[in-house]
Amino acid sequence: MPQEQHYTGRFAPSPSGDLHFGSLIAALGSYLHARSQNGRWLVRIDDIDPPREIPGSADRILATLERYGLEWDGEVVWQSKRHDAYRAALDWLYQQQKSYYCTCTRQRISQTGGTYDGHCRDLNLGAENAAIRLRQTLPVYGFDDDFQGHLQASTKLAEEDFIIRRRDGLFAYNLAVVVDDHFQGVNHIVRGADLIEPTVRQISLYRQLGYPQPGYLHLPLALNENGDKLSKQNHAPALPEGDPRPVIINALKFLGQRLPENWQDYTLPLLLRWATTHWTTADIPHQGANAAQM
Ligand code: GLU
Ligand code: ZN
Repeated sequence: MPQEQHYTGRFAPSPSGDLHFGSLIAALGSYLHARSQNGRWLVRIDDIDPPREIPGSADRILATLERYGLEWDGEVVWQSKRHDAYRAALDWLYQQQKSYYCTCTRQRISQTGGTYDGHCRDLNLGAENAAIRLRQTLPVYGFDDDFQGHLQASTKLAEEDFIIRRRDGLFAYNLAVVVDDHFQGVNHIVRGADLIEPTVRQISLYRQLGYPQPGYLHLPLALNENGDKLSKQNHAPALPEGDPRPVIINALKFLGQRLPENWQDYTLPLLLRWATTHWTTADIPHQGANAAQM
């Protein structure tokens, strides 16, 4: 058995808007889970998709984390500076014949039911105007989540040759996240339940690349009054200015955690330390079936 490595967790926001209550849950949950195990907690800015980036939001996200007392270890990693590593992983997968070029249009794929049918798998297409897909030879049909329990993926999802470099030349999220988490030594991934679905793809990439697989814990998602996930796309309100403690308290309540009596008397660092000491995943509320389905 490999020696258990020192716990390393992370928070990896995309700079497509400011932090909101939903992303604070992921930040705080991953922070508390890591710190409660004396682990390292890293921050990475997932800026691989310039068209979706909001100027200044990366810096504002980092400033907000600081304002909330969520201190990270080491240097922030920026995906925009990691292109060489993604290219190296893509080259290796291609040389190993674990990937191929695909020129199918979105329209063609929707005509075949929305799941890619492997049309270009053996066509030996060139790079021009093509996406790169993983040749899925190691499908992963489910995984054990440290909070949600065993999660099963549909066969379609598990077996699809998914995109690892987009046709427009941008690196795919699934590729970048796996290459970087491995590079940063992340061995425990705590994030929102909206990322349950890509997890089986990410695990299959770990296997294809020969990397050790991390543990996963997907937190419940904060929803708005309409039952939609709080997100940048549906204009979740920015976190309020001023005293961060009431927001931390709300986030702890959302995560089902105990609160100190008279929390108003606690400084922010003491409140976070208290929350770290009392952190338990056993009290996190389960969110019905939706969040746990893929
Ligand atoms: N950057 C991704 C996002 O903000 C999350 C990456 C991850 O946690 O795997 O949606
Ligand atoms: Zn194709």
